[in-house]
Amino acid sequence: MKTSPTNVSKLFMFLLLSSVTMHSSDIDTPSSLQTLSIDGSFSFHNISHAAKDFGNRYQFLPSAILQPNSVSDIAKTIRHVFELGPYSNLTIAARGRGHSLQGQAQALEGIIIQMESFRGQETRVHNGEIPYVEASGGALWINILNESLKHGLAPKSWTDYLHLTIGGTLSNAGVSGQAFRHGPQISNVYQLEVVTGKGEVVNCSKTENADLFFGVLGGLGQFGIITKAKIALEPAPKMVKWIRVLYSDITTFTEDQEMMISAENTFDYIEGFVIINRTGILNNWRSSFNPQDPVQASQFKSDGRILFCLEMTKNFNSDESELADQEINALLSRLRFIPSTLFKSKVSYVEFLDRVHISEMQLRSKGLWEVPHPWLNLLIPRSKIQDFAKEVFGKILTDSSTGPILMYPVHKSKWDNRTSVVLPDEEVFYLVGLLTSAPSSSGHDNLDRALKQNQRILDFCKKARIGMKQYLAHYNTQEEWKHHFGARWEEFQQRKQAYDPLAILAPGQRIFQKTG
Ligand code: FAD
Repeated sequence: MKTSPTNVSKLFMFLLLSSVTMHSSDIDTPSSLQTLSIDGSFSFHNISHAAKDFGNRYQFLPSAILQPNSVSDIAKTIRHVFELGPYSNLTIAARGRGHSLQGQAQALEGIIIQMESFRGQETRVHNGEIPYVEASGGALWINILNESLKHGLAPKSWTDYLHLTIGGTLSNAGVSGQAFRHGPQISNVYQLEVVTGKGEVVNCSKTENADLFFGVLGGLGQFGIITKAKIALEPAPKMVKWIRVLYSDITTFTEDQEMMISAENTFDYIEGFVIINRTGILNNWRSSFNPQDPVQASQFKSDGRILFCLEMTKNFNSDESELADQEINALLSRLRFIPSTLFKSKVSYVEFLDRVHISEMQLRSKGLWEVPHPWLNLLIPRSKIQDFAKEVFGKILTDSSTGPILMYPVHKSKWDNRTSVVLPDEEVFYLVGLLTSAPSSSGHDNLDRALKQNQRILDFCKKARIGMKQYLAHYNTQEEWKHHFGARWEEFQQRKQAYDPLAILAPGQRIFQKTG
C-alpha cells in the first residue's frame, strides 16, 4: 500500500504542543503511519507472525509491520515515532529472521521493520586488494556466501547456521569455529550504514562516526538499525576435510583445544561439544556429518559416559588433498584423543558451512523445529571451565539428548573491546551453548525442566564466582543488565542517550523502557 503525503504527523505534534489533553493511546494509533509517504508498505492485519520467534516462548503482538523498500522508509518511520515524542508508547524493532530466543525482535503494540524483505542494497562483491561484500542489513548470510562464491571469495567468520540476517548477528556478535582466528563476525566489518533512533541515516566505520560503529556492533539493536554493511572477504576454498575425535577426560580435551587455537599452523575451524549419557552415538550425531570409516567408529563403546568431541576442519582445493592430509596427520599426532575415535569426512565448503540447515529440514519435517528453545549461551573464563564442567556436566545436566552442548575456546584479543559486547576478563574464554529443544511430550514438561536446569546453572555460576557473561543474554530488569555490562554500563547508557534518547528501538531486549 502506498500512502499519500499529508501533514498529519505534524498535526499530531501541533496538538501535542498546543497542550490539548491527549492520552498516549490517542497519538499511538498506528493509523498515523498511513500518513507517511513511503516506497514500501505498512501492514496492520495478519501480523501475528511478527509476534513469534525461534525461542517459541514469548509472543508480543505488534500494531504494524513495515516492509521497507528504501533506507528512507526506515528513516521516515523512525523519525515519525521520534517526533511523536515521549508521550507516545510506540516502539520499533527490526526483525531479521526472528531467530531470537525471548522476544528480542518483537515490539508489543509497536512497529516491526521486516528487514528480510528490505531490498535497499543489492549484494555487491568488491574484488580488489582488500575484498569485501556490501549487503543490506536484512540479507541472509547464506545468500552472502552464494554471491561471494561467484567471485571465488567468502566471508571469514561465520555462525554455525547461515539462515540468519547480517543485522541480526552483528547486533549480537556472530561466533563459530573460525572466531579463534578471525574473531567474531563483528570483528570483520569495515563499514555500516545505520538509521539511529532519531531517524538519522549515518555511515560509520572505525574512523568515521566510530562511537556509533562500535556501539552498534554487539549493541543488541539499541542504537540504530543496520541497513547496510561492508563485510571482509577472503579467498574461498572449494572443499573441507571435516574431523571429529573423542575424549573422555575434560582436562586433556580442553588442553588440546587450547593448544590448537593458539598454534601457528592449525585447523581452519575448531569447535567442540559435550556428549552426556547418550547411546547410539553415531546415529544421533548431526546427520550432515557422515564419517567415512563407520566400521572403526562403530567399534567404539560410548554408552553412559560423558564424552568430549573436538571438531575441526581443514580447507583445501582439489589439487591440495594430499597436502591437506599431511598437515592434518601432523596436527592430529599432537592430540591425545581416544585412538579408536577418529572420524573423518570430506565435503564441499558450502555443505560444511550450511550444515545446520540439513538438520533444520529434518527437524521441520518431523515438526520438531518450531518447538520451544530454552537455549542458554554462556562465556566462561578459561580458569573456571573445569569448575564449571565438574558441576554442570553430569550433575545438573544428566543427558544431552535434548540438543547439542557446544563448548569451545576463543581468544579475547580477536574481539575489539570498543564494541558493545561484554566478555569475561581473560584472554581465553569458552563459549558454552546449551542448545536445548523442548517439545511437549506426554507426562513430561520438558520446557519447565530445561528452564529449571538453566536457572541452576546460572545460580551455580553466581555462587561459585565463575566470572561468566551471557551471550544472546536475556534479562528482565535494568538492574540485571547493569550487572551484565558492569563497568561498561555507563558507556552503553551514554550511547543510548546519544543515538536513541527516547528508547524507541529494540524494546524486546528489555534494557531501556520508553516512557509513555
Ligand atoms: P532477529 O532475531 O530477528 O533479531 C535479533 C536482534 O537484533 C533483535 O533485537 C532485533 O531487533 C535486532 N536486529 C535485527 N536486525 C537488525 C538490524 N538490521 N539492525 C539492528 N538491529 C537488528 N549465533 C552465533 O553467534 N553463533 C552461532 O553459531 C549461532 N547459531 C545459531 C543457530 C540457530 C539454529 C539459531 C536459531 C540461532 C543461532 N545463533 C547463533 C543466534 C543468532 O545469531 C541470533 O539469534 C541472531 O539474532 C539471529 O539473527 P536474526 O536475523 O534472526 O535476528
